[in-house]
Amino acid sequence: MLTDAFLQDAARRCAIDLIGVTDTAPLADHPYYLDWVARGHAAGMGYLTDHRAHKRADVREILPSAQSVIVAAVLYNAPAQDPHLSRYAWGHDYHEVLRERLEKLVAELPAGYDYRVCVDTVPVLERALARRAGLGWLGKNTCLINQGAGSWFFLGEILTSLPLPPNAQAPPDRCGSCTRCIDACPTDALVPLGDRWELDSRLCISYHTIEAKEPAPEPLREHLGPLVFGCDICQDVCPWNRRAPVTLDPDFQPAHAPPPLDQLALLTEAEFRDRYRHTPLWRTKHRGFLRNVAIAMGNDPQKRYRPALEYLAANADSHVREAAAWALSRDA
Ligand code: SF4
Ligand code: SF4
Repeated sequence: MLTDAFLQDAARRCAIDLIGVTDTAPLADHPYYLDWVARGHAAGMGYLTDHRAHKRADVREILPSAQSVIVAAVLYNAPAQDPHLSRYAWGHDYHEVLRERLEKLVAELPAGYDYRVCVDTVPVLERALARRAGLGWLGKNTCLINQGAGSWFFLGEILTSLPLPPNAQAPPDRCGSCTRCIDACPTDALVPLGDRWELDSRLCISYHTIEAKEPAPEPLREHLGPLVFGCDICQDVCPWNRRAPVTLDPDFQPAHAPPPLDQLALLTEAEFRDRYRHTPLWRTKHRGFLRNVAIAMGNDPQKRYRPALEYLAANADSHVREAAAWALSRDA
């Protein structure tokens, strides 16, 4: 059987920062996930609430021959600043980067077994798998936190029929009595549930700037502040990220210096494509991005933004127009 030392070495060669193994037993966290969906806390994310929700109980729904799950983490904590974008979106699209690295890792593993690489495209409960593989605990901010590396990392998995020694014990929860993330969340999106905390996506800025098709409801909009894509607040305040390692990984350094919002508002569809096609921002498409830029300008009313907002108020997309009209009304 392959040893943990072999896997750790292979991970280093493939530019993977953390790696662990778990078995394929059904996940004890799955009933919580179904309850979370039933409470409506997945908001409008159909890929989390449709028939795929049940597949997440057991990775053998995806690869029937699976005997092991290798969970990999790659750090993205680049030393830069961008007030508008969540740091996971600063660099290259992590789906492409992680897939390439995980496929390279598969090439180092014994031939003759089944392998399935998962980077968000396959329904698995990846944080639960990562916890069981020994990579960290699930913080009250619902992120996976590693004691030495914090929470700024991407996760990917390899399901395989190769038998591997699983991690013996999930790391203990080290949140203790801390409530910094809960106190700092501008929209109170981390909600109590017995002795746990869970995310109500309907209130979360990340949901409203990345996933939602409609503009955020008005009472929430002012809390979005300058954020155009994602929100890092509940990770920024986490003490485990205070000394989190910084990565110089070229794939996750910002491709562009952050331009002013009124310049972002003028990006044409072609310019948006050129700039963001291979970054996480592509997910919002041009119209979602402009909608978010309009709301961010509305949260910082300035005379110099008026021409850009008037331009957006005539956009072909009704959500962009509505967000721009709302922003203009804030400067009335
Ligand atoms: S991402 Fe932002 S809005 Fe969502 S829970 Fe964290 S702090 Fe709150
Ligand atoms: S801020 Fe505190 S409570 Fe929240 S995840 Fe970090 S350690 Fe846990």
